[in-house]
Amino acid sequence: MFPPSFSIYVHVPFCHTKCHYCAFDSIPSRPTHAFTSWRKAILADLNYQAKTLNHHPPRPVTSIFFGGGTPSLLPPAIIGEILQHIQQLWPQSNQTEITLEANPESTTPAKLHDWRSLGINRLSLGIQALDDHRLSLLGRPHTTLQARQVFAESRKAGFETINLDLIHSSPGHTPHQWQEELSLAMELNPEHISCYALTVEPGTPLERQLNAANLQLPTDETAATLYQLTQSVLEQHGWNRYEISNYARQDHVCRHNLAIWLSGDYLGVGPAAHGKMTHQDGAIIRTHNHWPLEGYIHTQKHHDAPFQWVELSSPEEAAADCLIMGLRLVAGIPRQLYREIAGADLMEKKSAAVDFLVKEGLLLMDPTSIRLSPRGLDFLDTCLTWLI
Ligand code: SF4
Repeated sequence: MFPPSFSIYVHVPFCHTKCHYCAFDSIPSRPTHAFTSWRKAILADLNYQAKTLNHHPPRPVTSIFFGGGTPSLLPPAIIGEILQHIQQLWPQSNQTEITLEANPESTTPAKLHDWRSLGINRLSLGIQALDDHRLSLLGRPHTTLQARQVFAESRKAGFETINLDLIHSSPGHTPHQWQEELSLAMELNPEHISCYALTVEPGTPLERQLNAANLQLPTDETAATLYQLTQSVLEQHGWNRYEISNYARQDHVCRHNLAIWLSGDYLGVGPAAHGKMTHQDGAIIRTHNHWPLEGYIHTQKHHDAPFQWVELSSPEEAAADCLIMGLRLVAGIPRQLYREIAGADLMEKKSAAVDFLVKEGLLLMDPTSIRLSPRGLDFLDTCLTWLI
């Protein structure tokens, strides 16, 4: 399994406005000069990472992911230029998965058409809710109608793999409302659905509203019901859960995320982006780019490294990461992959923990894979504290 698969993540930090729950590295502004400086810095970042972290010969790129922030805010010409630059630095095939995250308020038929022409073959729509009241609670700047229109326009533009991002357990969310949103999502018939529970991050407007008791989150019991409902409704209708929060039809799993969950390598390009690269001698290097945006752009202007820090992962850290990421997958981790990363089988390294979790029915040790049972997936964090 060496060398690991190789992907590229490009972080686009711009957003239309800041959503009420957002603690991501994003900025609610989009002046044209910021796009221009960001673009220059991205090209320099790609050059720097190609020079310092590449294998020889360079490995083919399995997937490219424009995430954010809101990549759909960018002029398509800039996206095209970045893709072309990546193509000059690394080999690609027509199998390379290229994803763009798009939000309804900044997606137009013309942009959709341009993205397809640029070779983007997977669209991830930040729908989050299919209910106007819930969208406004979350501070999203679009409506349910806009979301549905953008979905239809995406199909018309020729996108055959579309993901919908949805959030449950926002204030006041009930199983009945969530069931209705899931029904609307399934009516659209996307190939992929990601459903996450809302998390309240410190310092966000949502946290302030909750503290002021203007809003109330669902109880733990209701949140658990919403989580279970997601699984039962989507599975009944033909979407397979392949990761705790991700569902796909047929072979439409997100290859980019799957590669990362299975300890693949990825360049993190752009402000605040994280990367993980395995050196040809086997050493694992983790990188974290500068943030905020001005600091990142400053590095490009002064021909410095884009990294705020770089560190080597010890074999123990790499083995722990392999479990933290891979056990999220319903199919788990190939046993051989864990052995290669950790230098020994999990049975040898953690026999007492493995025995206990297997006896409790939480962990399944097949001859070829290490995976959690459905109940184990519900207790992922507890299982991990035993195993790492
Ligand atoms: S679109 Fe995403 S990154 Fe941008 S503000 Fe909203 S939650 Fe944050």
